[in-house]
Amino acid sequence: MSEAIEIYDDRLKNLLLPDSKLQKLADGAVHGEGPVYFHEDDSVIWSDAHDNRLLRWSPTEGNQVIRQPSHYQSGNYRDLQGRLVACSQGQRAIIRREDNGEWRVLVDRYQGKRLNSPNDLVVKSDGTIWFSDPTFGLTYENQGYGGEQEQAGDFVYRFDPKTGEIDAVIKEMAKPNGLAFSPDENLLYVSDTSAVEHPQQHHYIRVYQVVDNRYIKEGRVFAIIEPGEPDGFRVDIHGNVFTSSADSVQVYAPDGTHLGKIFVPELSTNLTFGGRDKNILFITAKTSLYAIALNTKGVQQP
Ligand code: MG
Repeated sequence: MSEAIEIYDDRLKNLLLPDSKLQKLADGAVHGEGPVYFHEDDSVIWSDAHDNRLLRWSPTEGNQVIRQPSHYQSGNYRDLQGRLVACSQGQRAIIRREDNGEWRVLVDRYQGKRLNSPNDLVVKSDGTIWFSDPTFGLTYENQGYGGEQEQAGDFVYRFDPKTGEIDAVIKEMAKPNGLAFSPDENLLYVSDTSAVEHPQQHHYIRVYQVVDNRYIKEGRVFAIIEPGEPDGFRVDIHGNVFTSSADSVQVYAPDGTHLGKIFVPELSTNLTFGGRDKNILFITAKTSLYAIALNTKGVQQP
């Protein structure tokens, strides 16, 4: 086991392999984000969000630009049909790559007003898309095309692509960012990275109860993440939370115990489980894409 892993609780040892070691797969990004795995060709699509590009890495073909401009695409995921769905900070929309390769806007308004700049998303097993809508794409010229904020706040939404229905399910957060469900989908974790703009504000992950697959209640702080902020994160089959931070991927048990850190040599931004056995953790960082094999698997679909 690498010395680049710090263990605070023995439960982390069970999640590691004897040869678990961080590997760099690709570099050259300005701000990596939103990794998503494709088992069909063993590839990872990831955003270079501040350089307005979408990238694809595979072990046989290396790293390539596949969309430029990407309209400041940030978080990526796959829907139940395996199609790529994503947050477009520039188009202020949730978008989907159709089978013919065209990108389609699925939703860009709530109550008739434009969204801010969706940042990250997750697809629930019923096909609904849950996403965060902070204002970063309006505020920073390297994260979107600017424009007026039309929404009353930075909300978390539940969107049903089958019906077009959209609801603001969380309105109490300052700058919601990453999202993930617990394995049984009874809990929704959402990070708040408002400390990026205001150091006295938040750098934590909150956890909420999901009721009837569509309502949210009883939010509380799950873990305060430092150094830096928890941008994107993922949950494994046991309910452990793997989150990005300024110095490492940090691991928390479902009960909130801090299990330890997998050090990354630069700011990490997001991660996803992939590989043929779903046990490879792919990590986007400021400039690079990394991977580490683990003795656990991710829960996300497909
Ligand atoms: Mg993010």
